[in-house]
Amino acid sequence: MTQLKMIPDHTLSITCGLCKHHSMLEVANLILVVGEEATVHDVRKKFRCKQCNVKGENTFQIIYKGNGGIAFDGAGVRPCDYRWAYQS
Ligand SMILES: [Zn+2]
Repeated sequence: MTQLKMIPDHTLSITCGLCKHHSMLEVANLILVVGEEATVHDVRKKFRCKQCNVKGENTFQIIYKGNGGIAFDGAGVRPCDYRWAYQS
């Protein structure tokens, strides 16, 4: 489990499992909302899609903003997602 306080300079990339709506959430901002003890899995489960309003049905990636590198924790990350995230 990755706690938000471990990755304060990262961004969570969340993609809705139903409509594929994509959101980028700055971890620093998430900490202000849910607290630094929360895990990325807590955030994923609570996240509600703005477009279709479904809750908890999504995949996510942890993206490090500093040098273009990327760290993973979690479910639903496929190799094609890796390439996409790394290049963007
Ligand atoms: Zn959606």
